[in-house]
Amino acid sequence: MSFTELQLHPALIEAVSAAGFTKPTDIQREAIPVALSGRDLMASAQTGTGKTAAFVLPALHRLMTPSEGQGHGPRVLVLTPTRELATQVTDAIRQLGQHTKLRSGSIVGGVPYPPQQRLLRAPLDLLVATPGRLLDHMERGRVDFSRLELLVLDEADRMLDMGFVDAVQKIAAETPDSRQTLLFSATLEGNIQRIAQRLLKEPERVQV
Ligand code: AMP
Repeated sequence: MSFTELQLHPALIEAVSAAGFTKPTDIQREAIPVALSGRDLMASAQTGTGKTAAFVLPALHRLMTPSEGQGHGPRVLVLTPTRELATQVTDAIRQLGQHTKLRSGSIVGGVPYPPQQRLLRAPLDLLVATPGRLLDHMERGRVDFSRLELLVLDEADRMLDMGFVDAVQKIAAETPDSRQTLLFSATLEGNIQRIAQRLLKEPERVQV
């Protein structure tokens, strides 16, 4: 199977070729059609399998259609356990979204607040964030999730291990019920089941 067969937007196919990706990885082949269908998804995939592009590509594809919502807040939110992972996801969004005009940014801990406040005031399509700092901004009334269409939980097992379960649930509770939710995790067992039951609606399961 090719990226073209996945029916991604031509601007994304072009970026995928420029990145040197010749064909989709297993997780991409399994997860992208489910993500494009609008269904919720829980996928088990380790780092190094191409899981980042497995959610970044369908997220960008969805954003190529203009929002019907009002406001300027993000339409896609990716939550990651660490600052390093947030940077990797942001880099992938820039790389794969290079032929789009979509605006993205990240909100992580351990760095000054003012640039993040400016980011949240400007129109934004995709936001990548670690839960603690994002919740901090939300509690100060700085985040508008009224347009949010897609929530991605990346490395959900690590987010739970790091004690972010309450923060993730509080954040999700502030987003529209109509959103799509994609959960990626090394394992789909144990506590992951519980958070999935709360945040996902009849998810499709994908294991590679
Ligand atoms: P990840 O598992 O998301 O951390 O991705 C691991 C690495 O694989 C990253 O450097 C990606 O740029 C690369 N990658 C992702 N998808 C593909 C693909 N379809 N073909 C070749 N490399 C890829």
